[in-house]
Amino acid sequence: MNFTISVEQKAIQLSIIEFCKTELNNNVWERDKLNLFPRDLWHKCAGQKLTGLAIGTEYGGAGLDPISTILAMEAFGYGCEDGGLSFSVAAHLFATVIPIWKYASEEQKSKLLPSLCSGKKHGANAITEDENGSDVFNMNTTAIKHNDGYILNGTKTYITNGSEADTILVYALTDKEKGFFGGITPFIIDTKTNGFSVEKIFNKMGLKTCIMSQLKFDNVFVPKENILNHVGSGATIFSYSMDWERIGIAALHVGVMQKLIEQVITFAQNRQSQGESLSKKQVIAHRISDMKVRLEASRLLTYKAAAGIEIDKSNTLNASIAKVFVSESLIKTATETMHIFGAKGYLIEYDIERTVRDSLASTIYSGTSEIQRNIISKYLEL
Ligand SMILES: Cc1cc2nc3c(=O)[nH]c(=O)nc-3n(C[C@H](O)[C@H](O)[C@H](O)COP(=O)(O)OP(=O)(O)OC[C@H]3O[C@@H](n4cnc5c(N)ncnc54)[C@H](O)[C@@H]3O)c2cc1C
Repeated sequence: MNFTISVEQKAIQLSIIEFCKTELNNNVWERDKLNLFPRDLWHKCAGQKLTGLAIGTEYGGAGLDPISTILAMEAFGYGCEDGGLSFSVAAHLFATVIPIWKYASEEQKSKLLPSLCSGKKHGANAITEDENGSDVFNMNTTAIKHNDGYILNGTKTYITNGSEADTILVYALTDKEKGFFGGITPFIIDTKTNGFSVEKIFNKMGLKTCIMSQLKFDNVFVPKENILNHVGSGATIFSYSMDWERIGIAALHVGVMQKLIEQVITFAQNRQSQGESLSKKQVIAHRISDMKVRLEASRLLTYKAAAGIEIDKSNTLNASIAKVFVSESLIKTATETMHIFGAKGYLIEYDIERTVRDSLASTIYSGTSEIQRNIISKYLEL
């Protein structure tokens, strides 16, 4: 076991942090207030290859191995003060681009990956439906065979990047009898296709610079060439993409927690109460020490899960353990930081309140905490 970060990995992290500082962090509170997706900054992120970190260089990606990808995401989470923007990049990379890279035919990869990696095209993945969120494979969206393709009908909801997307990975039911066991198929859909529409854009509590939409597929014809992998491969591909997404977003959160701890330490050392700094009060010092314990445990769980990508057959278990622990740690760390900052933590100008709002959805998306615990219980044969 070796926990040393290589010189190359450290250099990548430092250059991402510098990029975030100089290019991404101006006026975040303003676009957060206005629910604005910063398209120009998205393209800047793509220019740094953040939209294609793990993808082979032959397709325009950065060609990083899984651990280097996860370390890069940690730096992105640390450096980028716009939690909506980093979330948008992560959803694009982990739930759309990576499954295409892993499962698409060579022809599909050559056609799709260069523009998805360069940021020219924006990706989304659509599985959730209003009637069945956590019961994700019990879907109503259908794909019925028609001539040389399929006709899709249904509505997908809470889709990150949905209205911004050019390419959507949509999961639809092709065989009701088989359901989870070979009855779900992933389709790659160009949003210019007839019958596709954005039904609604949601107003949410946090991650406000990342647009979340409801999408309608009304008799959308999809040629069979747009099936990802093969008919019925949906459950396998979705689970694979969720393993990556859970670990990748956990890495973002580790970066955010690192930043919060640095902020809270500086604040507690400088804020005076009864003739001494807050950091000298044991009750505060212990709270911050607990944050550090949660951060380091989160980091180790995330690195362990990253090390298992493509190698460990039970990596879904590692991904779920990391997801549930890191997201719950993030929320605890963000709310504790707000508390130690006192009223300043509650004010928009100090940014902590935005981090609290951004953090709260982390135990809901990519499978709720209950669903992660269900997965863990299954591995424990409970
Ligand atoms: C910020 C954000 C971004 C998202 N992005 C996307 C996206 O890009 N693409 C996409 O397809 N979806 C996306 N989603 C949807 C997300 O995956 C779902 O919200 C999530 O799976 C939960 O579904 P639900 O909201 O319908 O809650 P429900 O499934 O209705 O759950 C309600 C509550 O009941 C609990 N519960 C439900 N079933 C069980 C069970 N079997 N055992 C124990 N507890 C249970 C849940 O844990 C939860 O606490 C996003 C959601 C958010 C908040």
